[in-house]
Amino acid sequence: MMIANMTAEPITEPSDVPAPMQELVGLDRDELAAIMVAIGEPEGRSTLRAKQLWHWMYHHGARDFSLMTSLGGPLREKLAETCAVGRPGISREQISTDGTRKWLMRFDDNQEAESVYIPEDDRGAVCISSQVGCTLSCKFCHTGTQRLVRNLTPTEIVGQFMVARDSCGEWPSPSGERMLSNIVMMGMGEPLYNFDNVAKALRIIMDQEGIAISRRRITLSTAGVVPMMERCGAELGVSLAVSLHAVRDDLRDMLVPLNRKYPIAELLDACRKYPGANNARRITFEYVMLKGVNDSTADAHELTRLLADIPAKVNLIPFNAWPGTDFECSSNNAIYRFAEIVNNAGFSAPVRAPRGRDILAACGQLKSASIKLSRRERDARSADADGAGLAASAATS
Ligand code: SAH
Repeated sequence: MMIANMTAEPITEPSDVPAPMQELVGLDRDELAAIMVAIGEPEGRSTLRAKQLWHWMYHHGARDFSLMTSLGGPLREKLAETCAVGRPGISREQISTDGTRKWLMRFDDNQEAESVYIPEDDRGAVCISSQVGCTLSCKFCHTGTQRLVRNLTPTEIVGQFMVARDSCGEWPSPSGERMLSNIVMMGMGEPLYNFDNVAKALRIIMDQEGIAISRRRITLSTAGVVPMMERCGAELGVSLAVSLHAVRDDLRDMLVPLNRKYPIAELLDACRKYPGANNARRITFEYVMLKGVNDSTADAHELTRLLADIPAKVNLIPFNAWPGTDFECSSNNAIYRFAEIVNNAGFSAPVRAPRGRDILAACGQLKSASIKLSRRERDARSADADGAGLAASAATS
């Protein structure tokens, strides 16, 4: 836990070993108030102080306590001695010819994960990672060739978005037009296997007095962790995207091994029950176009049959190749034929324009240099359906 080493006792005299600074990003308001008490603010004022600090950190993007003028000099000094408002380090920043930016972020233990900013004409989405590596081993996904190293903390998840805002100069939080208008939890990892940390981070991001990105502008993408979907809708109210990619269990078992645990019928049932989904807020079904694998006209017809009673839209993603993959992207003809069938059945089915391909920032290309799995290990892991994902994520959260 973030504040495990923080107690309500008065700070003791400095010893020879400097105490580690308490990171404030990623703490909720109650935790910030507890910090205020711990550094000597009267309890009755701690909620107000936490609110002021919150505004500096998350509305202004301030990192330097000396700029936080409303807090008063002595409190600012005490904070500067004991706490920090940090950011993940940036190991590498790349800018694609199409304006897409990708950051390889480095965390305190030197683990790394990627985040991407995808600008559109009048808005833009930041794609955020939830884990270092992944347990799922989806066959066509580059991240799936990595081991799960660990879950990202709320500090690290919120920090990714704050780095993007630093980089695009979007502090203080704009109330009108923003470049960084949307968030997609579609980076590395499976967000529903790190639900508590993702939920805490998104609550901070959605808070109206801070970063203030509304739940309507946040989409969480899952490979189909059925037991967590209800909570995601009920507790966070964000939009849902589901990585479907196949319309038959035998094929989906192979492409998305998690399907062996939660097959298509169960997954679609959870979609039907997803809180807040309706015709105005549809569930997005992502479908990666793999040549000769899942792109036939029969597949397209079956997709429309499966989705018939779900408030759905379809996102067709041309497969993005990565070094060492056996898959190929479907031909343009096959993709447009597929899209037409889905469209004619009444679903919106845009073909997602690949962005940032030149810097390997497109879907499924994200990968940090963490431990790579051998092909034998990958095969063994996908035989295990979800790579013991629940156990691993519980152990590392
Ligand atoms: N684990 C979550 C979050 C990853 S989101 C999920 O599975 O939804 C990334 C999206 O890109 C998913 O839909 C994923 O299936 C898709 N994807 C992965 N590899 C891809 C590739 N090489 N080309 C295109 N899309 C890919």
